[in-house]
Amino acid sequence: MENCIFCKIIKGEIPSFKVFENDKVFCFLDINPLSRGHILVAPKKHYENIFDIEEDDLKEIISVAKNLSLRIREIFGADGVNLVNASGETAEQSVFHFHLHIIPRYKDDMLEINKWWGSKSRKADFEELKKIAEEIK
Ligand code: AMP
Ligand code: ZN
Repeated sequence: MENCIFCKIIKGEIPSFKVFENDKVFCFLDINPLSRGHILVAPKKHYENIFDIEEDDLKEIISVAKNLSLRIREIFGADGVNLVNASGETAEQSVFHFHLHIIPRYKDDMLEINKWWGSKSRKADFEELKKIAEEIK
């Protein structure tokens, strides 16, 4: 894709802090990290997001994300990770080349994702959940 910033990074036309690559996947540091070692795992082939990515590439992304998570835990002592993907404008995706964020979590990192989550979520109506589940099935 001509004007895709991540395609340019993968081709080496724009500099990045690469942490891993293989034939399918390219991984580099996010330039606006939420925590130490915040990584983006992207397929080398251009897909916009979860809606068009091919399954083989997605599987490879998950597999590489696991290895990098283990590595970050080992070398930086991150006790946890959050894996995040935004797919679509409504989901606030800003770069339209699929990528999975690996956000390492540290004790006292103050990211407080659960605080935000709790402030936005509501108590479920069980009848409504039942209906939604039926519709999705
Ligand atoms: P998203 O909002 O999920 O599409 O995330 C896009 C991410 O790409 C953001 O966290 C940006 O900080 C990151 N980003 C944008 N441009 C670059 C770049 N040139 N190198 C590294 N990360 C980037
Ligand atoms: Zn691209």
